[in-house]
Amino acid sequence: MAAAADALTVQLQDKEHPAVCPKCLHVFANALCDARNEKLAVSLLKSHHRFFTACAQVASAPGASGDLSALRSTLDGNVAGCPNKARHVFASHALRDSVACAMDALCHCLYVSVAKGSNKKHKNILLSKSGMWPSTLDELIPTDVKAYARWACTLPRWHAVALLSRLLLVARRKVMEDLSCGPSRDRICATIVRAMGLWRTPDSQFPHEIRQYLSHDVPLGCPPPEDAALIITLVIGLFVVFEEGPDRLLDDFRSFSSGYERILHDAITAFVEDPTRPVDGNQKDLLLSVASMLCSRANFPVHPLVQELRKQPPKYGSLERDGLNLADTILVYLQQRRDDQTCSGPGCKNYTRQGDRGTCALSLCGKCKFLRYCSPECQKRDWTVGSHDVPHKVICSALCKFEKAGVSPRSASMDDFSNVYFDKTTLTTEEFTLLAQWALMDERLPREFKIGALKLFMRESGNAVLRAIAKPGKFLCPV
Ligand SMILES: [Zn+2]
Ligand SMILES: [Zn+2]
Ligand SMILES: [Zn+2]
Repeated sequence: MAAAADALTVQLQDKEHPAVCPKCLHVFANALCDARNEKLAVSLLKSHHRFFTACAQVASAPGASGDLSALRSTLDGNVAGCPNKARHVFASHALRDSVACAMDALCHCLYVSVAKGSNKKHKNILLSKSGMWPSTLDELIPTDVKAYARWACTLPRWHAVALLSRLLLVARRKVMEDLSCGPSRDRICATIVRAMGLWRTPDSQFPHEIRQYLSHDVPLGCPPPEDAALIITLVIGLFVVFEEGPDRLLDDFRSFSSGYERILHDAITAFVEDPTRPVDGNQKDLLLSVASMLCSRANFPVHPLVQELRKQPPKYGSLERDGLNLADTILVYLQQRRDDQTCSGPGCKNYTRQGDRGTCALSLCGKCKFLRYCSPECQKRDWTVGSHDVPHKVICSALCKFEKAGVSPRSASMDDFSNVYFDKTTLTTEEFTLLAQWALMDERLPREFKIGALKLFMRESGNAVLRAIAKPGKFLCPV
């Protein structure tokens, strides 16, 4: 396998005209992903960085120009001249097109690189403790995610969607910026709609803005039956990550779906209504709750299935109500920040720091052990200046007081947290005010969470800064 990877690395060198045979690459990718070869795959991830870098570069290259004809004729020629045709019978029949075959194989290899190995929890992937590839996001995404989004809506197999889901777990903050705007968003919407129709949705049913991004230069087949269920699971996984992924940026789904509510809603309800589709009870509830969100957001008539779902008793406390009370909102915010894997330095978006031995995890504030920083400079700036005029030294001291009172914001119940927050002998007025200001000014919390809290806060403190942001117009719903 190592020898094959060496040979493929040489063949993939020229990203415009790779000398690789797509069918043989496909056979290799399948072997790499085979559970029986797990150990081999992991050793390749440690020893063959150049191979995986070449995969990423070839898979990202055609995303920029979008014209695949030159690439196709190169790849067709490679298949025709391949000396190992005997192996080709193992390559997927669903991917007769050479570009589709090569790109599916590349996405497959890249997926292995972010999914295999002993320590592939999303937070550790890019830290590369054991010298595994990738060690930075740039290795995985040499351009941007556009190319992968393109393959996700084009290839009727699961690998590109799986790669995209992993990318969201690895670096949601950076990847989401690309995915929630422009052609990437159109393509992901198309992927979801296509997956829901298991690739049978005719192009004419897509809105115009999407249609222009559906690529007709790769002939589209139906996914093989064994892939169909997996694709659906992955797409449902995408909804979950959009909704409450590792960083729980709850506004992501809104920005991703706005303008596409109708097409997503209809695809989901049509999917759930079809009795022949592979979907279990939990998946169905999840899909319908997304449909429910979409119809309240865009003011659609409520679909009978959604109505049925809404009548069920809620499984977990619904946070999307009229607004939480002040302490609850702060606690929800704190729990988001606790999991936040980016630097808390004002304006900094780093998610690793440079240590003595290369990149490593962000370091925690030594006092509160709550916020993470990429460098002493970022930490210093946050300590004295902070974000939204809230220096961390005040927040830090408040957080330590919660810990001292035995109510760790990491795990406290809303009631316990609320008791300490409103207890004027524990927090100083400054801590009380700035903690709220810090949470309520941040974009991470959805606006509807904050409205009730803002009203309460202004009554309690009359804070001028928050009064200014609470003015009608600043919020989607008028306060
Ligand atoms: Zn071949
Ligand atoms: Zn601190
Ligand atoms: Zn920083």
